[in-house]
Amino acid sequence: ITPVFTRALAYGDKLALVDHRGQYTYKDLYYRSLRLSQEICKIHNCPSGDIKGERISFICSNDVSYVIAQWASWMSGGIAVPLYKKHPAPELEYVIQDSQSSLVIAGHEYVDLLKPIVNKTGVSFLPLTSTVYDGEADGLTQERAPQLEWRDRGAMIIYTSGTTGRPKGVLSTHQNLKAVITGLVDKWAWKKDDVILHVLPLHHVHGVVNKLLCPLWVGATCVMLPEFNAKVVWEKFLSSEKPRINVFMAVPTIYSKLMDYYDKHFTQPHVQDFIRAVCEEKIRLMVSGSAALPVPVLERWKKLTGHTLLERYGMTEIGMALSNPLKGIRVPGAVGTPLPGVEVRIVSENSRNESQPYLIHAQGDQNGTKVTLGSEGREGELLVRGPTVFREYWNKPEETKSAFTPDGWFKTGDTAVFKDNRYWIMGRTSVDIIKSGGYKISALQVERHLLCHPSIMDVAVIGVPDMTWGQRITAVVKLREGQSLSQKDLKEWARGRMAAYTIPSEILLVEEIPRNQMGKINKKDLLKQFYPA
Ligand code: ATP
Ligand code: MG
Repeated sequence: ITPVFTRALAYGDKLALVDHRGQYTYKDLYYRSLRLSQEICKIHNCPSGDIKGERISFICSNDVSYVIAQWASWMSGGIAVPLYKKHPAPELEYVIQDSQSSLVIAGHEYVDLLKPIVNKTGVSFLPLTSTVYDGEADGLTQERAPQLEWRDRGAMIIYTSGTTGRPKGVLSTHQNLKAVITGLVDKWAWKKDDVILHVLPLHHVHGVVNKLLCPLWVGATCVMLPEFNAKVVWEKFLSSEKPRINVFMAVPTIYSKLMDYYDKHFTQPHVQDFIRAVCEEKIRLMVSGSAALPVPVLERWKKLTGHTLLERYGMTEIGMALSNPLKGIRVPGAVGTPLPGVEVRIVSENSRNESQPYLIHAQGDQNGTKVTLGSEGREGELLVRGPTVFREYWNKPEETKSAFTPDGWFKTGDTAVFKDNRYWIMGRTSVDIIKSGGYKISALQVERHLLCHPSIMDVAVIGVPDMTWGQRITAVVKLREGQSLSQKDLKEWARGRMAAYTIPSEILLVEEIPRNQMGKINKKDLLKQFYPA
């Protein structure tokens, strides 16, 4: 097993990264990382060049410094812990302390923010100097990073999004990372001349692995924006400047924001035709993930750009697991089939803790064969096994143990169904599966329907405790400008479109649906906001 940086020298002078500062070859990244890794070892008094799994937290802008801090952590034998630059101080402190980091690295923009935290926690501190950003790599060209036994080493601790509780530190090994990367490279046919536009935060798998490590693995080019900006993204799509973008990935809310921008600025038919033609011709792949992709978003995006978004499903603990095909039919609302090397199962809810759960469906076992032991179309909990699955929740042995079945399947906590030869995510078992009047209703499915209503801009469906029904279905709605919506209107509209028992019995209007930077909604908090316990 070789980590991504060991491949960099082979790619040499090929363009690896473009950021707001400049352009960097693979060699640049390698040698600058090597120099930083030597500093890391010095700070740890470690002449052997292997700090043996010490955790290194780092906070960097979305630019070259991020890649160098990450690679340097690996080259020195450490575990990389990316901090999120927009997190408030207590959150940063939590991650630094929870991961028991021995060192914090800070890009120069973040030195002042981190100083008080570092002083308080007593951890070593390494502010990045200009050599990282624009230093000469040539002085080091005779040197190489030490060859370590990478396979079972911890590589990265990524904190979960905290959608259902306090973020948990997920420790993945180099082997886990490699399995996720190679699965995606294979499935989505990553190649050397690809150019991806990177607009996501770099502290979740989507931004770190799918959008950064995959291109760097194959010797492609990653064009990184400091942060998402709809105007700049459209400019990059349409610009004929080189390197020319041909791959894009984002969360559903980003696609919505891009379409809002489109509606405001690209009103002339000839401009619209031009956009569609350029996107169709120049871009080969557009992916959506991290949250359910609403079908109306998929359909409209297709109309504007000619691209059917490729939806996939993953989570911090398992990397990516299910994906629609690169070639072949992408069915709206479905997340496709297992990625190479990934085994999945759906088991019935009340058997999730038994070693031999009642199997509804399994696919993608070691031989790549499909095993169906139960009927299609039955919902259950999605389990995942294989080399992509993380090693442990950092410092949480009890949580780690209870996250797996006795025979080693990871319990995702998501409800899924296998139908029409593909998987469909119904939502988080704990908050999205609403039990009302004896029915089990998927909040995600209800949301998908409601988003087709002409007055509804955004919506979150929650289950509210109810004396009569157990739970009642409540829709928290953001309306389009100048629109209104009564319970009666909704009922009339929904008749014939939705099963009667899935129609929300309550509508709560809000200015904005609270989503985090990955487009996720914390539904427990949302419920509390309207119904404080
Ligand atoms: P926490 O575990 O702290 O509550 P989180 O589960 O939101 O946070 P992540 O690991 O970033 O943290 O997110 C994984 C979750 O995102 C999955 O369990 C799933 O619920 C959701 N998800 C990801 N992709 C999709 C998708 N295509 N469709 C529906 N849900 C998705
Ligand atoms: Mg989770």
